[in-house]
Amino acid sequence: MNCHICNNMCETFVDKKTSIVYYYCPNCEYIFKSPECHQDLNTQKERYNLHENDENDAGYQAYFQRFLDFILPLLDKPKTALDFGCGRSSLLASLLKKEGIACDYYDPIYHPDTLEKNKKYELIVSTEVFEHLHQPKEVFESLLERLEEGGYLAIQTQFHPNDVEAFKKWYYHQDPTHIVFFTPQTFRVLCQKYGVEFIADNGKNMVLLKKY
Ligand SMILES: [Zn+2]
Repeated sequence: MNCHICNNMCETFVDKKTSIVYYYCPNCEYIFKSPECHQDLNTQKERYNLHENDENDAGYQAYFQRFLDFILPLLDKPKTALDFGCGRSSLLASLLKKEGIACDYYDPIYHPDTLEKNKKYELIVSTEVFEHLHQPKEVFESLLERLEEGGYLAIQTQFHPNDVEAFKKWYYHQDPTHIVFFTPQTFRVLCQKYGVEFIADNGKNMVLLKKY
């Protein structure tokens, strides 16, 4: 199997607990579950409906605030933003509005009809979305098309430990809706491929990229 990000030949390993086969790309460090693990939208929705993300919950707000505390100091005051894959809640969009940034939100399951066809943004944020994507490269490309020149793409997804034994013990891939996994290197390779500037990562779960 070739890597879906950089087309390099992948290595494979199996998690004996689940018998799931994983593909690992040594070039861009992308890991993906064998395609039969990919779920359709309805199956995913059943699982997402169990998520208790209460907008009034202080922990949930603090969680988004950590994301904003990382990205906002690195930006030059964007006026427009899109929260791509917001889930049921528009809380992150509300927090951005408080910062003076007009924010739209979109989710393929909960808010599927909110995108204007040719509207572009100065900032696109996407938190805990990329690990669910069957085709992250294609989604990455479509988000770049929605960015203004000089616009920013900020992504949150847990970086995997880049070590097979540590990966097997890692909690994040045990969620059946999490099917693909990244490190900052994966995003660096995507940036090179699409001529995007890699601005920063936080070493844990956030990257900030800039379209020229
Ligand atoms: Zn690769």
